[in-house]
Amino acid sequence: MKHKQAKKTSLHWRRTKIIATLGPVSTNRPVVEKLIKAGVNVFRLNMSHGSHEQHCESFQLVRDTAASMGQHVAILMDLCGPKIRTGAFKSGSITLRKNSAVQISCNQKIGDKDLIISQYKQLYKDVKKDERILLDDGNLELRVQKISGQDIHCKVIHGGILKNNKGINLPDSNISVSSFTAKDKKDVQLAMQLGADFVALSFVRNEKDINVLKNYMKRNGSPVPIIAKIEKPEAIANIDGILNASYGIMVARGDLGIELPAEKVPLIQKDLISRARYLNCPVIVATQMLESMIESSRPTRAEVGDVANAALLGTDAVMLSAETAVGKFPVDSVKIMDRVLREIENHQWEHNEFGSNNLNHTASTTLSIRKAVSHAVTSLAQDLKLQGIVVPTRSGTTAKILAANRPTAPLLGVSPDRKVCRILAIHWGVIPIEAQEQDTHDWKKLSISISRQCRLTKTGNTVLLVSGFNENPSLNEPVMKILKV
Ligand code: PEP
Repeated sequence: MKHKQAKKTSLHWRRTKIIATLGPVSTNRPVVEKLIKAGVNVFRLNMSHGSHEQHCESFQLVRDTAASMGQHVAILMDLCGPKIRTGAFKSGSITLRKNSAVQISCNQKIGDKDLIISQYKQLYKDVKKDERILLDDGNLELRVQKISGQDIHCKVIHGGILKNNKGINLPDSNISVSSFTAKDKKDVQLAMQLGADFVALSFVRNEKDINVLKNYMKRNGSPVPIIAKIEKPEAIANIDGILNASYGIMVARGDLGIELPAEKVPLIQKDLISRARYLNCPVIVATQMLESMIESSRPTRAEVGDVANAALLGTDAVMLSAETAVGKFPVDSVKIMDRVLREIENHQWEHNEFGSNNLNHTASTTLSIRKAVSHAVTSLAQDLKLQGIVVPTRSGTTAKILAANRPTAPLLGVSPDRKVCRILAIHWGVIPIEAQEQDTHDWKKLSISISRQCRLTKTGNTVLLVSGFNENPSLNEPVMKILKV
């Protein structure tokens, strides 16, 4: 196949996946259809807003629309976790002036001038003198002067207007509240009942937080793969344990950039992407990616650069939040994201950079069989200029491991299980394909017909079939077959 044609065929499939948050502007059939057509692979239902009834309707809407379009689109239900908030004010808002004194009360009902209510009633136990309290996405800053009874006396460091029910962040404190709240329990019950493809856990601190959710799901229904939202400094310190315990991670830059100085976020994002890939975990870069498109039909150049950078770093997925939930241009936001990602992938394909930032292992390390085969697949894809890699995958694990190495050829993740197909939708470079059980007896025939169906190959071209990965080491006997179409 000529270079130009090979490139066109290969890049027909965008590798970096797009996650869109549903909200008032997008929860209707015509918009969901347009969003899927524009390239959404996963929808996020944000449990911080809306009733169970509304989430059930959104869930069914996505399932019905995707099914009618013949697409494998996943649903991620994002648990709100212990987001600490202020209460309401008598007049709806107050003004905090620099250097003035203000009190946060944990037992009063309504706020007033110089009095803020905390909805989290244990706050006075968790903060100490001289610690910072950030309000409204970090726009306002207080410093604790003293604690008396259930009142926290503070000095205003950065003032401004504070409205009802704004977020409180405590970057210097150890919060005693669990990252899995009573509301999360109800929400995760709903996620299991509906059959969500992923649940995201907010404000994760360590692997114990993940295990609490995992055990709760085991006791109460069918466990759903967990995406750990990395938005606290403790999570960065405990990242290896979190990656081992979770299905994947989200770089939740909104809260992360409040809990840590914003300038720390870009390098943390880079580090998290490479660590996640090394451990075969999918990673999502989230928040403010095209923020200005909430109001404007075109993104800023800086936002385009941000989406491009996430793709250059090799993230599995990028996420839109308010842009598609409440913005004026939900479909255009996805279209622009798709165009930026394709531009970068075009460059990466041309310069053979997809797998180039794979973490090298030292000569003294022996890789696992699965990891070694995955390296070999990436080399073969490059050396033979493969058009596609067919991966029969019962649980999704083989495709997950191969995808983490970012091979140049698209991965066709083939499973008879529709749920597995939807899970594959979040992974970099994987095209989920549902196969009939009876067709899986002749993999050569099936591989060739799938490659043709995906417009990946013509007569005479080469595809690779990789199968036989198993979670159980004694059954792990992978086979690679080079097939001529
Ligand atoms: C974030 O903080 O970046 C994030 C994704 O979480 P949420 O949108 O739930 O605040």
